Parts: sequence; C-alpha cells; structure tokens
Amino acid sequence: MLTRLSPQAPDKIIGLMQQFRADPRADKIDLGVGVYRDAAGGTPVMRAVKTAEQRIWQAQATKGYVGIEGDPAFLDAVRTLVLDDAAPPDRVAAVATPGGTGAVRIALDLVRLANPAARVFIPDPSWPNHAAIAGFVGLEQVAYRYYDAAAHALDAAGMLADLERAGPGDVVILHGCCHNPTGADLSPADWADVAAVLQKTGALPLVDLAYLGFGAGVEADAAGLRLLARHLPEMLIAVSGSKNFGLYRERVGAILALAGDAATATLARGNLSNLNRQTYAFPPDHGARVVTDILADPALRADWQTELDAMRTRMEGLRGALSDTLRELSGSDRFGFIAAQKGMFSLIGATPAQVATMRDDHGVYVIGDGRMNVAGLTEAILPRVARAMLAAGL
Ligand code: PMP
Repeated sequence: MLTRLSPQAPDKIIGLMQQFRADPRADKIDLGVGVYRDAAGGTPVMRAVKTAEQRIWQAQATKGYVGIEGDPAFLDAVRTLVLDDAAPPDRVAAVATPGGTGAVRIALDLVRLANPAARVFIPDPSWPNHAAIAGFVGLEQVAYRYYDAAAHALDAAGMLADLERAGPGDVVILHGCCHNPTGADLSPADWADVAAVLQKTGALPLVDLAYLGFGAGVEADAAGLRLLARHLPEMLIAVSGSKNFGLYRERVGAILALAGDAATATLARGNLSNLNRQTYAFPPDHGARVVTDILADPALRADWQTELDAMRTRMEGLRGALSDTLRELSGSDRFGFIAAQKGMFSLIGATPAQVATMRDDHGVYVIGDGRMNVAGLTEAILPRVARAMLAAGL
C-alpha cells in the first residue's frame, strides 16, 4: 500500500526553515517563518499565559475529555472577543479546533458538506494553505485580485470587480487583519464596499483571523469583520490563538459560523460538531483553557492586552526603523510602504533571484515570494538586513 504513494511537494516555508537550520553561518538571519520575536530574538511565553498555566496546574483535578465541540466557556469567550455585540449569540455556532489551520480546514469541510460545487475565492496572494486546503477537500479555487505589487498596496478596485463574480453558493476568503503575506489591509471604507458586494452576490465570507491585535489593536482589527456580521446573514470566522496569545504549539483555534437564524445556527453546530468528531474527536484543551482564563479574569486580561499592545508597537517600530534605514542608505523613499503596512509581514518586492542573493550572499532568509517577517527583526540586525536588500538590487 505505502509504495503506491506519490511524493508530496514540501511546504515552501517549512522547507526554508530546514534550509535555515542546515546553514552553518553563525550570523544567519531568519525572517521566514511567521513567529513574533522580542528584542533578544526569542519568542517568550506571555506573562498572562504563564500565570494562567500556573493556576490551571494547581486547580485542575482531571484530564478527562472535554466535549466534542470544546469547552463552552472558551467558545463564549472567543465569540465575545471577536464579535462583541455585532451578532446575537443564538445565531453563532462555534467549535474549538486545533489552531487557526484546523479552523480553516473545518470551515472548508463544512462548505463542502453544504455545497460541493462551491468555488473558493482566494486573494492573490494569500497564505498558501488556503489554496492547499481548499484543493485537498476538493473545492474549486478562484484567485481574486488583491495586491497592486507596483504600488505596494491593496488593489481595492480589482478586488471588488473580481468579487462581483462570486455567486450565492461560493465562498470568499478574507484576511480579518494583517494580510499574510502582503501586510496590506482593507480600510473601513473597503470593508463597507466588500460588505456591499457580498450582500449583492450572496457569497459567503470566510474571514481568517490569525492576527487579531497585531494590526491596529484588538478593537480596530475586529472592526471589519464586525461590519460584515452586522450586514450579512451568514459568515464563517476562523480564529487562531497562536500569535496573539503566543500559544503556537498548543494549537488554539475556533471556527465561528454566523447563521441567518437560531435554527440554522443549531444545524450548523451539529455539522461542525460532527466534523470535529470525524477529524480528531476532541479538540485540544490546554491552550483553550489558558485563553478562557485570561479573558475571564480582568487583571490577567489587562496584562495580556498590555503585552499584546507592546508586541504590536514593537512591530510598528521595526517597520518604521527598517523603512528609515532604507531611506538613509538608498537616498530614496521607495521603501515607505514597509512602515505603512500592518502586522508581521511585508512583501518587500524582491524577485526570486534577489531572495536567493539575500540568502546566499548575506545570510538573510525571506520567503521565495519576497515575504519578510518584520516581527523577526531586531534593532541589532536591522542595518544588516537593509544593506542586504540594497546589495541584492532592491
Ligand atoms: N491563517 C493565516 C493567514 C496564517 O498566517 C496562519 C498562521 N501562519 C494561520 C491561519 C494558522 O495558524 P495556526 O494554525 O498556527 O493557528
């Protein structure tokens, strides 16, 4: 049986991580994988997480199974954090998933159950797993214009024109904030335009929310999807707790399904629950419990918010510093876009050959499409990265 398997193309980002590990140069710089790093270059456990884990360790009397849907307190906490009062609770079905990836997978499985002929509209470019998962579950994919590479900015007109082509049985993937890989986000006016197009076409939005709080703060980052929730009958939201709680390996996530009425929400919940059961039965609990405890305790929540704000401010500072350093070294303003973009990533506009030069000649690793993890910079390495970019011909 196993001999019948065909080799799978390695994931580009994971392949790059392996190449980085094998590189013997001591001064190599990893700006590839999407992990937040502090000034010392580490990815620390957040303070509130440590405290919550300590309390759980002391109080937890059993590791018995939680429900198939995950802990209801976790699902309530996530729904409130993400949607606030933008949707009535009885119209929202939710289940916990292993990370945001699990949420995207269960969301697309749900779509396939509802309509196997659904087309999945995916921004060009996007997180590569969107197309990969859509393809794996057997759904047709349609790329929609998103990014104007020459302007290093959102192509709002192209996006809206392409989304007009989606129909009532289709799905539109949107990044809730901090678009991966471009860092180019929708403005509030763009969100209103997207809501109007979705209302007109009847297509179902699937909002991928992997970076809530990394863009302009929790409330501002949630504003776009809340606008959709207020105006549209249905939507799916794939939530990740990997980045904003720093819980990467604990696999914290949830899929929220907003339905047109409470009866349809109950139908959706039954289907989501069944998908969890078929896929992994019980979603992981430890990280979800940490998030629940943080959000329920005012002091812990305030501390989490403070640390999250500091992470965001640090990323904004690094964007500004890289853009300033490049201005000084190049004598031009052409890298101003790096400061204007949101979240961890920027597409720096490098060709594959320039990416290879940065890596081979300067030990600076970015993804092959030119995606740089700005959150992987530190003040100490920033001038070297800027020089490598310019030396590679950017
Ligand atoms: N969506 C996007 C756009 C992402 O960038 C990521 C993280 N790389 C995820 C979802 C999922 O992250 P995780 O499964 O680690 O929660």
